[in-house]
Formats: sequence, structure tokens, C-alpha cells
Amino acid sequence: MSEHPVYDVLIIGSGAAGLSLALRLADRMKVAVLSKVKLSEGNTLYAQGGICAVLDAKDSLESHIQDTLTAGAGLCDPEVVRLVVCEAKECISWLLERGVPFTEERDNQGHRQLHLTREGGHSHRRVVHAADATGRAVEISLEKHARQHPGIELFEYHNVVDLITAKKLGYPAQRVLGAYVLDIRQQKVKTFRARIVAVATGGASKVYLYTSNPDVATGDGIAFAWRAGARVANMEFIQFHPTCLYHPDARSFLISEAVRGEGGKLLLPDGSAFMHKFDSRAELAPRDIVARAIDHEIKRLGIDYVYLDITHRPAEFIRSHFPTIYQRCLKLNIDMTRQPIPVVPAAHYTCGGVLTDSNARTDIAGLYAVGEVACTGLHGANRMASNSLLECLVFAKQAAEDILKSLPMVPMPPALPAWDESKVSDSDEEVVVSHNWDELRRFMWDYVGIVRSNKRLQRAMRRIDLLKAEITEYYGHFRVTSDLLELRNLAIVAELIIRSATQRKESRGLHYTLDYPQTDDSRPPTNTILEP
Ligand SMILES: Cc1cc2nc3c(=O)[nH]c(=O)nc-3n(C[C@H](O)[C@H](O)[C@H](O)COP(=O)(O)OP(=O)(O)OC[C@H]3O[C@@H](n4cnc5c(N)ncnc54)[C@H](O)[C@@H]3O)c2cc1C
Repeated sequence: MSEHPVYDVLIIGSGAAGLSLALRLADRMKVAVLSKVKLSEGNTLYAQGGICAVLDAKDSLESHIQDTLTAGAGLCDPEVVRLVVCEAKECISWLLERGVPFTEERDNQGHRQLHLTREGGHSHRRVVHAADATGRAVEISLEKHARQHPGIELFEYHNVVDLITAKKLGYPAQRVLGAYVLDIRQQKVKTFRARIVAVATGGASKVYLYTSNPDVATGDGIAFAWRAGARVANMEFIQFHPTCLYHPDARSFLISEAVRGEGGKLLLPDGSAFMHKFDSRAELAPRDIVARAIDHEIKRLGIDYVYLDITHRPAEFIRSHFPTIYQRCLKLNIDMTRQPIPVVPAAHYTCGGVLTDSNARTDIAGLYAVGEVACTGLHGANRMASNSLLECLVFAKQAAEDILKSLPMVPMPPALPAWDESKVSDSDEEVVVSHNWDELRRFMWDYVGIVRSNKRLQRAMRRIDLLKAEITEYYGHFRVTSDLLELRNLAIVAELIIRSATQRKESRGLHYTLDYPQTDDSRPPTNTILEP
């Protein structure tokens, strides 16, 4: 039986979503935060562009709402969009109170104000940022507060294996009770008990060969919430960022949308621009259109990359607006003030995820999902740039308010059985895991990437069935490792993406298929909701 203390709230994930939820709760209750590796690692740390909020007098909430709905291609939940847009200002103030060093400028009267930048899909400048490393500034500030807070216990290098639910233990009413967690450094599976569990594990873009995401983004929360019985929605909508740096020595380095926002042009190897042929907004068209255009040109010309050129802006402007990108490129001998940057598209953002209501509640009593792991209805079929950090912050606030209200009614979880390792041994063939990792990510890239077709999806499904059988067998016989847990989760996420993509018989937002290239406007659009 478990010897662990009971937490009021167990938060799985320490990005913008997990840490802001923890900080909003910890004055009033006992909170544990788990992170798979070190606390700061996750998508949040790498976010460059910024966070949307209507702060300019010429901008309006209605305009931000409209831009978000337009990007979402008919599938956003308008009430959720309004909620998020209206809460943005409060969330930015909350971050400022926690010392996030957002970039400022002087207005005409010499007063300091937040500098706002512009990104694709936005009709106004409304992106609050900390130079070109906004996520880092947010994450480091929140981490500092979390480490100092006496109400928060932090567990780094703790990888959740599975949620523990009442039904799994044979109780009639479904409710989350805790989680089995692999302590990576001790190589031991521990049992965590909690009255409420919040999944804030981020996205799943590591399911693809090329991605802007760090290694932790393996969709674990989507997979273990699904295994526990929660519905998952809109997994076919994977956003491919159009401009990742193409360089043999640079893995997953993103060239921010803001470079195009500040005038950067996409060019073919002969120096000619092409975006105007695909969309009247050219470089400022939404990401899916830009990514597909680049993919089209790369395949048409048989080239590996295109160029992003901002050399027409003054060198000082480039260095001060994009210090991180400038330095990173310079280290690879690319001086972006004088040379165009080679770029390719890469998997970037998971629009779908665990289905939640506007308080971040999932189908399972006591289980919340916050941040990129969730499907809240904000993004619909396509996420607008810089709406995702905002979603993390707003839904952390919503979840916190709901938890503060409901906790007094939540029962104490019963004693939980310890993890059983009596029937497994150490693996003697780790190569099986690494081989399957590579194979899965490659066929997802080839068959379920930017452009899909029925045939490609069927091919991918056949492979996933085989892989799942092998993984289940392996999981049943050997002690769990982080690599095995991630592979098991990636296989589920891949299957959910393929199933969702197969169900959608049209092209909409981020989902594009050669068999149904048009958007089906003959009936109201629907979400793709998968039941476990
Ligand atoms: C390169 C890049 C640039 C971006 N730029 C922007 C931008 O400018 N603006 C914007 O709004 N969005 C941007 N995004 C998207 C945005 O960063 C993410 O959507 C957001 O940070 C997600 O935050 P999160 O808290 O949900 O997850 P993350 O920040 O990814 O955190 C996930 C956490 O979950 C933990 N975790 C995962 N699995 C487990 C497990 N099994 N057990 C225990 N812990 C686990 C991880 O360790 C980590 O702590 C960008 C993303 C990338 C990759």
C-alpha cells in the first residue's frame, strides 16, 4: 500500500500551464508538481514570439476574437474564444506581478509601455513579448516563484506511467485517485495519491520526425488520459511551423513568426519570392498556408529548404529584435543581418487533445487538463500564433477557480496498491525500443504529415497496429524505462491522429488531404471526438 502523503492537487507538468496553476492554488492547498526531466524543460521554455493580449487603444477584443475564429476555420467554440480573449489582460498583469521581463518601449509622452509585435493571422499588433525568448522569460520567472513557495512540492525527473482511477481498482463510480510515477533517477515506480489531478504535459509533436518541440513533447498526458477513459478531440489538427532552421547541426530550432511579422520574405534558391502566389497575405498568411506553400515548393523543385530573408532591415534592428535567433544562426556561420536563413517546416503544435469544458474539467471526475495537452475549443482547426501560451494561462486560472470552489466536496482517495513488478525483468534488447521510436516518427512524417491521403493513412494505420502489438508485448515483460513509456504513449497518440484524420472527409484548417481537397461547407462543421 502507498506510503505517500495525499496531495490536494497533483499537477503533472511544469510548463506555463502547470506552474501557473500551481502558483494560483498553493496559498490555499497542498500541491505537488511533477516534471519528466528538469523543471524548466518543455515547450514553454522555447516559445519565442509571445503572448496575445488586446492592449493597444486601436485594437479591440472583437478583432482578436474574429482573428482567432477565422484561423480556427469554423471549429472554434466562440464562447471559449471570448473567454480567453477577455482574460488576456489579467493574465499579462499576473505575469508582470511575478516579474516577467516583457519588452517595453516609450510612448509619445515618454511613458513606458509594453512593446507589442505582430504575427501571422493578427489584424493588429497585440503580441506581448520578451525580445525573442518570451517562453524562457515566463518559465524562469514562474520556476523561481514555484521553488520558493512552501505550498508546492516539486518532483523533477518523475515520469508518469499511468493515472490511477477508481474504476481500475474496481470501484463503481469513476474518479481519478492518483498516478503511478517512474522516479527516473532511482529507477523505481512510486504511487502518488491526490484528491485532484491536473494534466499539464504539453503537446505531442515528437510523434513526427521533424519538429520544433523539445524531447519531452511525446503526448504522454493525451495517452494516459485516454487509457484512463477520457475522450480526446481534434487530433488531426497538427500545426506545422513553416520556418524551422535547416542545418545539420541544429536540432529543432525555430525561426519565429515575428521575423515574417517584421518584414522577412520567403525566397526560393534563385532569390524569387513565392508566397504571393499562394495567398494575398503572402508571408503574413496563417501558418498552415505558409507551411503547405513551402512544402509544395520543396517537393516541386526537389530542394531541401527555402530561405527566409530579413536583410533589408537595419542590422541593429535585427540584432535587438531577434537576439536569440541572431546568436544561434551566427554560431552556425549564418549572419542573418547579411544572409537569408535556410528554413523548412516542422511539427510544432498539437491543436487537439484531451477534451475539456471551460473550467478545464475532463470526462473523469477530479481530472483536469490544462495547456497544450487539452482541447478546449479555443483553436478549432488551426491555432493562431501566440494564442497558446495565453490558453495555458487562462485555463490555469479557470481550473484554479474551479478547484478552489470544489475541493471541499472532493473525498480523500483510498489507500492505493503499490506498482507490481513481480512479473517483469530488465530488458535485454533496448534496440527494439529505439528502432520502433525511429520507425514511428518517420512513417508519421511521410504518411500523416502536412499533406495526407486515404492511402497514406491506411499505410500508417497498418504500421501502427504492428507496432502497438510489439510494444504491448514488450511492456508486459520488461521493467519500464522512460524510453519505453514514451514510445508506448507516442504509439497511442499516432493512432489517435491517424484515426481522426481518417474520419475527416474534407480539408479544413490544418488538415489537408488529397482525396478531399475542399472544405465541406454543405453542413455545419463538427469536431472529431474519439471515445475510448
Ligand atoms: C519553439 C516553440 C516556439 C513557440 N512559440 C510560441 C509563442 O511565441 N507563443 C505561444 O503562445 N506559443 C508558442 N509555442 C507553443 C507554446 O510554447 C506551448 O503551447 C506551451 O508552452 C505549452 O505549455 P504547457 O505548459 O502546456 O506544456 P510544456 O511547456 O510543454 O510543459 C510540459 C510539461 O509536462 C511535463 N511532462 C510531460 N510528460 C510528462 C510525464 N509523463 N510525466 C511527468 N511530466 C511530464 C514536462 O516535463 C513539462 O514540464 C511555441 C512552441 C515551441 C516548441
